[in-house]
Amino acid sequence: MFSNTEEFKTGFSKKLAALTGTNIEDASYNDIYTTIGSMVREYISSNWMDTNHQYRKDNVKQVYYFSLEFLLGRLMGSNLLNMGIYDICEQGLKELGVSLEEMEEHEPDAGLGNGGLGRLAACFLDSLASLNLPGHGCGIRYKYGLFEQKIVSGYQVELPDHWLKEGNVWEIRRSDKAVEIHFGGHVTMEQVQGRLKFNHYAYETVVAVPYDMPIIGYENSTVNTLRLWSAESIVKDLDSHSISTHDQRKIIEYKRQTEAISEFLYPDDSHIEGRRLRLKQQYFLVSAGIQSVLRSYKKNYDSVFELPNRVCIHVNDTHPVLAIPELMRILLDEENLSWDEAWDITTKTISYTNHTTLSEALETWPVDLMKSLLPRVYMIIEEINRRFTQVVWEQYQGNWEMLRNLSIINDNTVRMANLAIVGSYSVNGVAQVHTDILKKREMKDFYQMFPTKFNNKTNGITHRRWLLRANPQLASLVTESIGEDWIAEPSQLIGIKQYLSDASFQQKVQDIKRSNKLILADIIKEQSGIIIDPNTVFDVHIKRLHAYKRQVLNILHIMDLYNRIKEDSTFETSPRTFIFGAKAAPSYYFAKKVIKLINTVANIVNNDSSIRGLIKVVFLENYRVSLAEKIIPASDVSEQISTASKEASGTGNMKFMMNGAVTLGTLDGANIEIAEEVGDDNIFIFGLTPNEVLNYYKYGGYSSWDMYNTFPRVRRVMEELISGEIVAQAGELRDIYNSLLSDNDEYFVLKDFTPYVDAQLKVSQAYKNQKKWTEMAIMNIAHSGKFSSDRTIAEYASEIWKIKPVIK
Ligand SMILES: *Cc1c(COP(=O)(O)O)cnc(C)c1O
Repeated sequence: MFSNTEEFKTGFSKKLAALTGTNIEDASYNDIYTTIGSMVREYISSNWMDTNHQYRKDNVKQVYYFSLEFLLGRLMGSNLLNMGIYDICEQGLKELGVSLEEMEEHEPDAGLGNGGLGRLAACFLDSLASLNLPGHGCGIRYKYGLFEQKIVSGYQVELPDHWLKEGNVWEIRRSDKAVEIHFGGHVTMEQVQGRLKFNHYAYETVVAVPYDMPIIGYENSTVNTLRLWSAESIVKDLDSHSISTHDQRKIIEYKRQTEAISEFLYPDDSHIEGRRLRLKQQYFLVSAGIQSVLRSYKKNYDSVFELPNRVCIHVNDTHPVLAIPELMRILLDEENLSWDEAWDITTKTISYTNHTTLSEALETWPVDLMKSLLPRVYMIIEEINRRFTQVVWEQYQGNWEMLRNLSIINDNTVRMANLAIVGSYSVNGVAQVHTDILKKREMKDFYQMFPTKFNNKTNGITHRRWLLRANPQLASLVTESIGEDWIAEPSQLIGIKQYLSDASFQQKVQDIKRSNKLILADIIKEQSGIIIDPNTVFDVHIKRLHAYKRQVLNILHIMDLYNRIKEDSTFETSPRTFIFGAKAAPSYYFAKKVIKLINTVANIVNNDSSIRGLIKVVFLENYRVSLAEKIIPASDVSEQISTASKEASGTGNMKFMMNGAVTLGTLDGANIEIAEEVGDDNIFIFGLTPNEVLNYYKYGGYSSWDMYNTFPRVRRVMEELISGEIVAQAGELRDIYNSLLSDNDEYFVLKDFTPYVDAQLKVSQAYKNQKKWTEMAIMNIAHSGKFSSDRTIAEYASEIWKIKPVIK
């Protein structure tokens, strides 16, 4: 294609003219973007075909990562980077008078996920391809991604995210590979040649059409596939003459209901949403995915018995766990295997990642709903449960409690986590502490029964997007200092430790941080009109809004700090800019009140000239991947303050560390492993431990009123919530007040308040010693290699999936 800027410019101008009929002077950003996108697609198409061809030719085992969410973000920059042509494109466009960076700003995020779970899936795809591993994604092509957030008078307003409005250059529609999905209907049984045969009839058919997106490995020739399914009806056109009005209405209704399946991503993070449409989405993905996996498998193999040696289906959380009964259904009803044969294949093919121990997030479905929507699949789940509980009963004679805990169906609900554990060969948690809690507490009985199924795979992030792409200046400094081997082997980042006390290296690290802070300050000024000072500490709390993530703890500390500054004109602190970004699920009432509280406090603090510019508070609207890429490189302090035991891993924490921000956090999720890597001197840890929290839940003994009565500063900020001092309507924030006091503060905000204030004081003091602070930042970057998703994926590949890199 092109190996220098001249070739790029020639190819580009030709392509632009052919595609849009314009020249560079008249081209819109979208024209330019589409042109480069299709050049990239052409360029990689032979690698894409070759990759598939080689996987097939070499009969390699392949993994399919099933996930209801892929939070990809923007793709142009990372694709150009991985192809090794970012610099050529940038220079070529510059010579044509176009800024690549500005053009990238016009690309909508592919926001097909809520938060960490979806972003993890995206990082994993990048690592699979970059490590030459045969692994693909399987998901839903939602017409609308996670809603776009606007803040109006301090409140969240949700707008639909129509990300496909201008088309999607990265996808290829494959109508030839469409499959049918069946919902509803009835099942009959008959004896055929001594075998029970099940007939599913009177069902409704939905067509699943795949759209394939290339997943480009970093400077290798691997191109894997992310296959996203779109739901379509089988009725093509309505011939209004030959159909009655009644039938027309029914057809229109059927079309509407069918297309609704891939219309919206459920904007709900870690709260189970008990809706029929969501269950339809799950089965739609799983059935389409498995049919397509089996079809491709069968091109190479006559017998299904080889399946576990050639295919692994990984389910990301319980959302795609219907893969288990669906694979059973196909093996039983279509391949005519016996139950034992089908079960043996299924349980050797499917592996499962658990993402939470929050009980409200553990997925369950009413039996009646599942039975009516998926009658045959439900029969299979029932049979799995019948056989499984029989084994439990034999193994744990008369232990009713064990039976009740382990049963897949209980109290007229199907427990998806139980189904996942019983029907898979591997169950992994996402950070050491999370896996330990699963083994010792939440899934203790399952662990006793299947000790070897359980294992840990601490999450990771792709350092290509989150360092190389998001922070090019820091990446260049690292490469200048230790060479470029760290890009292929991120553990080599440790090499920069030799410059820990090198004054010139420190200066460069500081300059880069400052430069990133200036860029962010411009964005903030443009978005909110707020002017922030790059000399202040950028203290950042960005993630989904959830009670357990404790944005409330952060804002209560800000209120307290503000009080102290107002009361004492000699009060000293390192000047701070507190930056928030968070979407609340539209139905999550409490979370929305917290957004209002943050914006209200921001409004007061930012307009009070008496506080000597010591604090500013910014709430950035519409937090998403592309915004995270700008905020994180500019951050000094990374707020990771979830209630200990609640954040399974976190991945935001890793992105910050890799960009030289220092963590202020609880002993939760991967924060614990970050602390182990950087050492206690290079992180600020405070608050209850996971065991302390879990023991409070188990044995009681916590009273938030005690905190209120013991600590005057706690009482002061609590009173401010309801006094009318900060919001005009005194009742507006009473729900936050009540949850912290009358409802006894489920997430231990008031318990951790005083330790948090102390930790914040230490942060403030530490920042005053810039040399020391910079050393902390360097230590964080140097030790971030462990948290590359390349390490995580290498562990999944060798320990769970048993797949190997494909050498070309
Ligand atoms: C990384 C990321 C997350 C996850 O952040 P946590 O702090 O781990 O909850 C959520 N949303 C976006 C856009 C991200 O990039």
